[in-house]
Amino acid sequence: MATAYTDSDFVRVLRENWGYDSFRGIQLDIIRDVVAGRDVLGLMPTGGGKSLTFQVPALLGEGTCLVVSPLISLMKDQIEHLREQGLPAAAIYSGMDKHDIHRTLDNAAFGAYKLLYVSPERLLSETFQQKLRFMTLSYIVVDEAHCISQWGYDFRPSYLQIGQVRQSHPNVPVLALTATATKQVVDDICRQLGFRPNAVVHSMSFERTNLAYVVRQAEDKTAQLLHILRSVAGSAIVYVHMRQQAEDVAKWLNENGIRALAYHAGITSIDKDMRQKAWKQGDVRVMVATNAFGMGIDKPDVRLVVHLNVPDSIEAYFQEAGRAGRDRLKSYAVLLYNGNDVRSLRRRVTDAYPPLDTIRKIYTDITYYLQIPLGEGQGTVREFQVEDFCRNFKYFPSVVESALRILTRAGYIDYREEDESSSRLIFLTSREGLYRYHDTTGGEQVVMALLRNYSGLFTNYVNIDEQFIAETCRLRTEFVYQILKGLNHQRIIHYVPMKRVPRVAFVQRRLSEDELRFPPEVYADRKADLEQRIEAVIRYALSDDTCRSRMLLDYFGEVNDHDCGQCDVCLANADHTLAVKQARKAVMRVLADGAVHLPAEFHFNGISQSHVAAVLQQLSDEGALRHSGAGFQWEKPAE
Ligand code: ADP
Ligand code: MG
Repeated sequence: MATAYTDSDFVRVLRENWGYDSFRGIQLDIIRDVVAGRDVLGLMPTGGGKSLTFQVPALLGEGTCLVVSPLISLMKDQIEHLREQGLPAAAIYSGMDKHDIHRTLDNAAFGAYKLLYVSPERLLSETFQQKLRFMTLSYIVVDEAHCISQWGYDFRPSYLQIGQVRQSHPNVPVLALTATATKQVVDDICRQLGFRPNAVVHSMSFERTNLAYVVRQAEDKTAQLLHILRSVAGSAIVYVHMRQQAEDVAKWLNENGIRALAYHAGITSIDKDMRQKAWKQGDVRVMVATNAFGMGIDKPDVRLVVHLNVPDSIEAYFQEAGRAGRDRLKSYAVLLYNGNDVRSLRRRVTDAYPPLDTIRKIYTDITYYLQIPLGEGQGTVREFQVEDFCRNFKYFPSVVESALRILTRAGYIDYREEDESSSRLIFLTSREGLYRYHDTTGGEQVVMALLRNYSGLFTNYVNIDEQFIAETCRLRTEFVYQILKGLNHQRIIHYVPMKRVPRVAFVQRRLSEDELRFPPEVYADRKADLEQRIEAVIRYALSDDTCRSRMLLDYFGEVNDHDCGQCDVCLANADHTLAVKQARKAVMRVLADGAVHLPAEFHFNGISQSHVAAVLQQLSDEGALRHSGAGFQWEKPAE
């Protein structure tokens, strides 16, 4: 069994490799337990320092620490850091070429890495599972573990199978980490990961004492945004709902003299990397992004996070807002909302959960569309273009997407997007024309490789494999893809990249509408859950009488005995208290002589009448004010 380590060993590793003097918060509690072989769920707020809780044990442990992590950018970021420190770490993710994957896995089996990061999708692949059996694992870590929970706001189905890894490595402790921690999610994580009876949950306060939460009602949000960006200096993230909106807002900010970039799922991964880097290094001040941006990104000096739309859960808001101020210096999280936000949020519930009869009807229409007779079709797989179906049968795509999701969950069909078998291309120039083509950034190399490896390119569309070309040219697949797109743009080739093809598989024979049943866990429970989440975030936006920080913590079940003193509500209260104090002084100056005073005498410059009225009410409640027909008189307290 493993050597017994003491706290001083952990601190030594921390010092030697990271140069920090001591652990923070519950880091040490987590490390102790996981090193002792227990399953641990660690709940720490964003920026709390979750990474060290597995990186330190990984360095001490025997074998490789397997880290399942949901985002490529996040993995790359951590690997880069670790390598800079000279620590042996590697990552495996979708989009990496086969060659690299094999090499990395072989190295891992030889024990070359202390840490191996992998995306859940890759983890479940055949290749990985095979190699996994030969690896000695020290720990299995699930970062951003809320993704495993059906109740987590960014649930990922492939995360559900992480628990399977335990079958081949039953004695390896599992450490799950997240910054999202409602009770429901916590229970779900422990169950999905098959936590053993000795498991422990460590949590710490989620309070972010350096973060001021502000909510503002704003009709003209972009104008308000500009105003905010001009009054708070430093790096910022602006969150929006839609891709196009991200582009538009970024453009608008640039036009107004604020350097900004857009980030969303619709840009290429090369662009993502570049933009993220530019923002991280501070070359660009503002990142305008959809929720595709930010998870796990460790930029310490973000001073401001603005939400131009209300996110669809407190969890999401808290995580995104929490990306400000990781360096513990004063920062702001501003939410801008108006009536449209509330309406469109509520519409999400009806969009995501259309009436059951509509779902039944859509099911039947799909079977007509695909010509599947009643009672037949089990095992049939067909390409299914939602847009085309909607044109034919007059549905809104969002409703059909939701119905497909629910029918999939209920186990009647399986709707998913799959990679089409391959990409195609044809040369548009003659062979001679190609000789005039010169390009030093890999283009020529790619053209040569195409000509050498495929025939008929000048007369027909030929199926090609970018990964194979990449391997022969010793380039990255992504780069080859970019080059091909460039050649396409220059009309040297016509390139039809492999696309994702949506397919419907009939898991069961075609049923009649009244045979379709939707149990609560497929429909009613989920709908109620979404409704609750959305109402909670609407409450947060609309409320103006409870400290924002307190409200957020309360949502996560954390009892908090103090107000933050810096959110918009606390500041308004402080203003109010001060104003009432001033009003009281002014009122008392008038009453001090004990005479009767007319209401008109209680008008003061710079003090609002409502505060004066509040003071008169207070005094009267205290029994210190007599109200006669003529006016007010101070009632001296009885001796
Ligand atoms: P999380 O994953 O919880 O959001 P990270 O693991 O990315 O947070 O850590 C956030 C930042 O805090 C990093 O820059 C990290 O180096 C720093 N940090 C973590 N633990 C300590 C510590 N004990 N002392 C000083 N800095 C720390
Ligand atoms: Mg993290």
